[in-house]
Amino acid sequence: MPDALLEIRGLTKHYGTVKALAGIDLQVHAGTVYGFIGPNGAGKTTAIRILAGLIRPTAGTVALGGLDLRTRRTEAAVGLRTLVEVPAFYPGLSGRQNLTVFARLARAEQDEIARLLDAVGLNEAADRAVGGYSLGMRQRLGIAQALVGRPNLVVLDEPMNGLDPAAIHLVRELILTERRERGVTFFLSSHLLHDVETLCDEVGIIHRGQMVAEGRIEALLGGSVSGYGVKTADNEAALRALKESLPAAKPRIVDSEIHVDGDDAVLPALGRALLQAGLPANSVRPLRETLERYFIEKTEGVMG
Ligand code: ATP
Repeated sequence: MPDALLEIRGLTKHYGTVKALAGIDLQVHAGTVYGFIGPNGAGKTTAIRILAGLIRPTAGTVALGGLDLRTRRTEAAVGLRTLVEVPAFYPGLSGRQNLTVFARLARAEQDEIARLLDAVGLNEAADRAVGGYSLGMRQRLGIAQALVGRPNLVVLDEPMNGLDPAAIHLVRELILTERRERGVTFFLSSHLLHDVETLCDEVGIIHRGQMVAEGRIEALLGGSVSGYGVKTADNEAALRALKESLPAAKPRIVDSEIHVDGDDAVLPALGRALLQAGLPANSVRPLRETLERYFIEKTEGVMG
């Protein structure tokens, strides 16, 4: 692996007696999309606020491109953009004018403003005053602003929050395009695990201020089968029979299927138990681990 673009070591933050971060380590490599996930109160926003320079850590270091963000912030933070909470804009100026002012301050090219406004679906509203924008429109403008001037690393706290499904789709496509075509690296927190699974190369799962799992999603989930989904003519009766004969496979009903844990070694016993109950399987399909299931296992069922 090449050197990390972002390297966090032993990051700790205490708010009085609350240990929001208890020494987290993580690395984000250039050109990747990193998903930072965890239940409510896990410490995600705290870590992102430290990255944004809004609060100071109690201990630990953050380095960007090998430069310490605390001691050499001015140099280290060139090319770093963070979007935490709802961004502030000039309410009397239009979306386009706000981005124009920002691009001037950031010494960025003006010619990408139209492309970014279009990419977040703000074409029609671009010349209206931002004071009249909805929360979701401001959020989209904030994302467009974070991308002006081809930053190296874009840190987004819950970027999909408050966006409608069409905007979520646009933002997902924009993140992937910026990474592919302009080499932008992303670090984003989210509770939308399906989006994280389709968007991110790597994830870090934080729980009670500690990293409980980190790595490439395929490596964490594995390609292997984690169980089977079975349908019979009478799922309730079949479930009772399976609970008797295969308790270790934890039979349970999920939607209109019976789910059992295990790899293909469980299949003969499963087939026998169903036949003995007079309820042969109408269908059997392999179940693969999803990020959601993995997340729940790692965070002891505490949903975000
Ligand atoms: P969510 O998913 O709900 O946004 P999060 O993972 O972003 O949660 P944080 O906001 O980082 O979690 O909070 C981590 C812990 O630190 C929580 O226990 C929270 O109550 C506490 N905390 C955060 N900010 C402060 C503060 N300013 N003062 C005191 N405690 C705080």
